[in-house]
Amino acid sequence: MYPEKLELLIAGEWCQGSEGVQEAVINPATEEVIAQVPHASASDLDRALQASADGFKIWKKTPANQRQKVMSDAANLLEERIDTVSKTLTMEMGKPLFESKIELQFAIEVMRWYAEEGKRAYGRVIPHRFPGTRQMVLKEPVGPACAFVAWNFPANNAMRKIAGALGAGCSMLIKPSEETPGTAVAIARSLQDAGLPPGVLNVVFGVPDDVSRHVLSSWIPRKLSFTGSIPVGKHLQKLSADTLKRCTMELGGHAPVIVFDDANLEKAMDDMVAFKFRNAGQVCISPTRFYVQEGVQDEFVHGVVERVKKIKVGNGLDEGVVMGPLVGHRRLEVMDDFISDAVAHGAKVETGGQRLGNQGYFFPPTVLSNVSDDARIMTEEPFGPIAPISSFSSFDEVVQRANSLPFGLASFVYTQDGAKATAIEEELEAGMVGVNHPGVSTPESPFGGINESGYGSEGGIEGLDAFLRTKFVTEYGV
Ligand code: NAD
Repeated sequence: MYPEKLELLIAGEWCQGSEGVQEAVINPATEEVIAQVPHASASDLDRALQASADGFKIWKKTPANQRQKVMSDAANLLEERIDTVSKTLTMEMGKPLFESKIELQFAIEVMRWYAEEGKRAYGRVIPHRFPGTRQMVLKEPVGPACAFVAWNFPANNAMRKIAGALGAGCSMLIKPSEETPGTAVAIARSLQDAGLPPGVLNVVFGVPDDVSRHVLSSWIPRKLSFTGSIPVGKHLQKLSADTLKRCTMELGGHAPVIVFDDANLEKAMDDMVAFKFRNAGQVCISPTRFYVQEGVQDEFVHGVVERVKKIKVGNGLDEGVVMGPLVGHRRLEVMDDFISDAVAHGAKVETGGQRLGNQGYFFPPTVLSNVSDDARIMTEEPFGPIAPISSFSSFDEVVQRANSLPFGLASFVYTQDGAKATAIEEELEAGMVGVNHPGVSTPESPFGGINESGYGSEGGIEGLDAFLRTKFVTEYGV
């Protein structure tokens, strides 16, 4: 049974929507309705906005060490509840239980990190120009913040926004995805149970476009943080313009993987197969365009296919499953379209390629070789379990092809030549570059894109700074 009771959190009270509207939550592995998520009405949203204004007044005055205590107590509670919450996450999103636990453990670390870092939101004193004056730079919480987040990391996407805001002293009004509501509710419960004051965190659900229009037209939120697709990000930024909210945009990517012929090929294949099919490829930093140098291309394709055939696909609650279903039926159709288009452009399907069964949104891990740069999958974000492989001959050629798209999120490079690694790190148009390993995401390092992949960072001191504003104070004769 789905463990989480789905409710809205407004002004410290758990409640249903005042107009009684609900939406079914579907388990993508079984297509069964597992719960009903309440929708907030317009008046519920107004209450949540007011609550976040009231919550902000309390939280910004709460000393940083007390904020840290509440947040770290909440992290401990979430850790105690991790088995139950992992089950919620797997049932609503599909990823295997072990991945849900890893995601939750990461989210707990994010909460602990921001809780600590909030104590270090230092300003500075600037040497004066005129005798008798003192010049100071203060860092203050930016104000009530709001966030809308996608379904692919139900814990992490929500936690990065909530913990960043709370660590900085902001309140947060968040709309998690209606497809994966329970995990965010569980995070909010841990904070409420740890003693978070009313209104500091408000959680709502609804029709995404209605909620975001309503919330973003209000002057109360001073900051928007969004994780999701590029078109939605652009839309939300436009909606934020009239009230000039500061924005952080964590949008899609199309990560190139560049494998030079001097790479440790076994490591490259081990890393990239595991990373590519994590969360069934529904990851913004998922490797999505494989460029392999000519001399090692056949060996690479062969080794990847061998590894991919061992991946067990199934219901994430079942023992031994490594890859779950896609989040919804719509994603199956997208995968079919990508593959038929790539084949029409000369690609070969090495393994996978067709939906598995007819119950649950299962699609096999798929490898395509000889993929032309003109195939849609090489220019549009696949967001699914397809690895398209192409070859290249020279350094300059691969840099040009890697940088040819408007995206700029993650990039991965495999080479054992230090000079080549340094040169390509400097050339790549990306917010994050992983050389010889995929670990570009940690609580303490900045995570974010450039160009159409968005701007602003989550994680690291940059992630805290995203929720702070700068005030200059100059004193004379005091
Ligand atoms: P989508 O763009 O319809 O939705 C993505 C998320 O944004 C959903 O959780 C949705 O609830 C939310 N959303 C949509 N419209 C919104 C609005 N007007 N206001 C507020 N929130 C809104 O796409 P999808 O079919 O669910 O997912 C597929 C695409 O989304 C992929 O191609 C990928 O590019 C992108 N995506 C990116 C990330 C990421 O981490 N950057 C995460 C999930 C999805």
